[in-house]
Amino acid sequence: MRGYKAVLVDRADLAQGTTGRYHGLLHSGGRYVVSDPRSATECAEENAIITRIHADAVERTGGLFVSAPGDDPEFPDRFAAGALGTGVPCNEISVGEALRREPRLNPGISRAFEVQDGSVDGWQMVWGAANSAIQHGATVLTYHRVTEITRDGDRVSSVLCHDEKTGEDVRIHCHFVINASGAWAGQVAHMAGCPDVQVVPGRGIMIAMNHRLVNSVVNRCIHPADGDIIVPVHTVCIIGTTDVKVEDPDKLAIPRGEVQQMLDAGEVLVPGFRQSRAVHAWAGVRPLVKDTRVSASDTRHMSRGMSILDHEERDGLKGLLTISGGKLTTYRLMAENVVNAMCEQLGDKRPCTTANEAVPKSESGTTYVITHRLHDREGDRLDDQIICECELMSKKMFVDAMESQPTASLDDLRRQLRLGMGPCQGGFCTLRATGLALDHERIDIVRATGLLRLFLKNRWIGLWPILHGDQVRQTALDDWIFRGTLDVEHLPQPESEVLV
Ligand SMILES: Cc1cc2nc3c(=O)[nH]c(=O)nc-3n(C[C@H](O)[C@H](O)[C@H](O)COP(=O)(O)OP(=O)(O)OC[C@H]3O[C@@H](n4cnc5c(N)ncnc54)[C@H](O)[C@@H]3O)c2cc1C
Repeated sequence: MRGYKAVLVDRADLAQGTTGRYHGLLHSGGRYVVSDPRSATECAEENAIITRIHADAVERTGGLFVSAPGDDPEFPDRFAAGALGTGVPCNEISVGEALRREPRLNPGISRAFEVQDGSVDGWQMVWGAANSAIQHGATVLTYHRVTEITRDGDRVSSVLCHDEKTGEDVRIHCHFVINASGAWAGQVAHMAGCPDVQVVPGRGIMIAMNHRLVNSVVNRCIHPADGDIIVPVHTVCIIGTTDVKVEDPDKLAIPRGEVQQMLDAGEVLVPGFRQSRAVHAWAGVRPLVKDTRVSASDTRHMSRGMSILDHEERDGLKGLLTISGGKLTTYRLMAENVVNAMCEQLGDKRPCTTANEAVPKSESGTTYVITHRLHDREGDRLDDQIICECELMSKKMFVDAMESQPTASLDDLRRQLRLGMGPCQGGFCTLRATGLALDHERIDIVRATGLLRLFLKNRWIGLWPILHGDQVRQTALDDWIFRGTLDVEHLPQPESEVLV
């Protein structure tokens, strides 16, 4: 929007890093009013902006902060004072009213506050921003891994990328590089010869339950802790999260102990939580910038605020900035701040307009509503077959997406269409989708089988740690469909597994 010629590169699909592995909460700021007042104010301001400019990715669910039995009885008063001081809209409501709004909520709660939390589809938000950038002349290269950042004297001069799909190396000559690679920011800065950028990866796990046990975001009114938030996202609700320092952001386990911890925490807010079906678990990694005020392993208490590193000041290299930390809720503000810093270095004055211009498909300002899919399918049910009953994805939606992205994997399409994200976890829709891709001769049988196997493998990673109750039966059925009836393990395969 400021008129620079820009290229965005990502080693994977967009939002396949932390942005696609997060909790789905558009923060009201409430969570930080006591522990991190600055982040609280930023979240509150950005919540209003994101709801406006990314309307189609945001559901205005609203949220509650509730004091559960055994929680610190002093905290709610500090919470209310904090909200007032940070400008986070907040209103105390009666326990009766909270239970009327959320009938499954623990009837033992003693206080309740309403806030403006929402839920936001990270993939849709990121693609909305990317499409807006493309309309303004940017180029977006997915599956392009940065392998080298070269300098000419004391200036950045180019970036070398490896195209993960074609195997080609691509060099991009440039005057400026913004390193926004999240938990990998230290690795990328290192490629430019800037050592010791300490981004501490803080892993958190989340679990999707098979339906919306709550209508709005429900938070515990305590200091930020593990498993203290349930977020309704599309047809499911998500409990999270933990926070454990890890060494490698590419190796994220989902320990069974943490799964049990999340289910127990869910039980505190919604009695009977464990009885509903856990359909998928995943882990994401917080890109927290090392803060000397707290111990290096204490990621829960590190600042959630953003950090911009000026490598000219720090390492004597012109034309490189690293931005890290922050929240998805404050992503736009992070972008504004880092581009302001770039403009300053370049001696350019170009004002930021991202807060005023809605991204494509959000121009009407109408926010997402969960009921839209049923409404849409009722309109076209006689002409357009449903391929995924859980997520109401139609044949046309899938075929159109395949046609416009012939090299996409089923996982890439999942992020756009929610293929395989419902309670059957791909048991019925994956084989139909693969058949459709073949049927329309978009791909050959060998690639089709490779894609199918990769998709099932990825779904399984998030399934096995939470297998219990009815989901075990569902999974056994899926296993019989794929290994018993279709014999996927002996279908024609590519020489090496499809990886992306
Ligand atoms: C468990 C958890 C729950 C969270 N919940 C919320 C929430 O509910 N609400 C909220 O607002 N925030 C939440 N956050 C915080 C938020 O998700 C993150 O701050 C945000 O998504 C980080 O975005 P990012 O762009 O900095 O990093 P990422 O989304 O990880 O993006 C970095 C990108 O860099 C790419 N990359 C890495 N190396 C290379 C390379 N060599 N070449 C090219 N590309 C490369 C990666 O592929 C990746 O796509 C949560 C975080 C965690 C961990």
